[in-house]
Amino acid sequence: MAIAITDLSGHILYANRCYQQVSGYSLDKLLGRTPALVQSGETPDEVYRELWGAITQGRVWEGVLKNRRGNGDTYWARQVITPVRNAEGELVNFVAVQEDVTQQRRQQEELRLLATVFETGQATLITDAEMRIEKVNQAFVDITGYSSEEVVGQTPRLFKSGRHDKAFYARLWESLKSTGHWQGEIWNRNRHGEVYPLWQAITAVHDEQGCVRNFVAVFHNISERKRMEQRLERQASRDYLTGLYNRRAFDAALRQAMQQAEGQAQPLSLLLLDIDHFKRINDRYGHEVGDRVLQSLARQLGSSLRSTDLLARWGGEEFAILLAGTSLPGAQTFANRLRTQVAEHRLQGLSVTVSIGIGELRYGEEPDSLLSRVDRALYRAKHAGRNQVRVDDQAADGDEVTW
Ligand code: GH3
Ligand code: MG
Ligand code: MG
Repeated sequence: MAIAITDLSGHILYANRCYQQVSGYSLDKLLGRTPALVQSGETPDEVYRELWGAITQGRVWEGVLKNRRGNGDTYWARQVITPVRNAEGELVNFVAVQEDVTQQRRQQEELRLLATVFETGQATLITDAEMRIEKVNQAFVDITGYSSEEVVGQTPRLFKSGRHDKAFYARLWESLKSTGHWQGEIWNRNRHGEVYPLWQAITAVHDEQGCVRNFVAVFHNISERKRMEQRLERQASRDYLTGLYNRRAFDAALRQAMQQAEGQAQPLSLLLLDIDHFKRINDRYGHEVGDRVLQSLARQLGSSLRSTDLLARWGGEEFAILLAGTSLPGAQTFANRLRTQVAEHRLQGLSVTVSIGIGELRYGEEPDSLLSRVDRALYRAKHAGRNQVRVDDQAADGDEVTW
């Protein structure tokens, strides 16, 4: 403990070795000087006024002063200054006992800083090794709707949405165990029962022995990003003129429908439909009228479909229709009905006819093969005079397995 004794005007009469070490001045530099020697100039004047006010009235003063050592470094000194009286009760000296608390101060400041970062940062949840929640921050409360009191002591199972299977959580735990870390998308349920997507990073914190002491989970709500992704995905899969699936989306849907049909041993038929002499409409009435005819036709075709059928704008004035669960005879009937409907209704006040090619998926067939067979059928419908339906009747390669 650093100790110094001064007279009533504050001149140093004695300083022990520790005081010399802490202040960075040797005894001969200290004796006869006042403690102003070690003032940093960074402690407010009123602190000194209060200090002198107390001790000159005979009261003990306790407080922290920011001082400066002989080498110029500043340090925090906790001081207890006690006035000493003689046998007559008169004040004669002051004894200052001080302790260097710079280290504690720094730690406190660091803790304060960390606490601020924790409170103002991303939603964070800290659990013990048994996954019991120890601490959450304000952003956590804002996102989940739970208050700190409601979740401390609980486990994160409280937030389960039921959207993930056991295997999902098993993978998460496996990653935490082997790498100490997991991050990914996770759907949770908030206090109001709403399920929402999060991007969450969980990190295991170990003690000196290498045992897990805490888990820290940091997350943010990605609902907005998800909505944006869905919107972009939708835009990318739609044709701007008709709002139907575009070719890209149709190709993907065709692959999926083919897999499903094969997996479930269900028939699947494909129609390709092309407007007859569409160039003439453009030439005679202009491209804009042509566009409106395409839109009207798209609406008319759409209104004839079942919910399991899929309609797409395949090309300029060509449409593709996938009929799930439908074999060739059914597809033929359907195509003829469509053809007649189009021919009988005027679109934008104009008579329009279509030619249609049909094919049924063969077992083990690739999409390109089915498409080219149906395209051939369409070509034959055109050659047969248009406003016709034709089936691809070319024999299957090999053993002709169809179903
Ligand atoms: P057919 O099919 O009966 O043999 O004759 P067609 O005149 O319809 O010939 P084809 O199918 O080869 O030509 C399609 C025409 O459709 C060519 C193009 O000018 C027009 N077309 C393609 N896309 C659009 C579009 O988005 N808007 C308009 N207005 N016309 C388009
Ligand atoms: Mg065409
Ligand atoms: Mg055409």
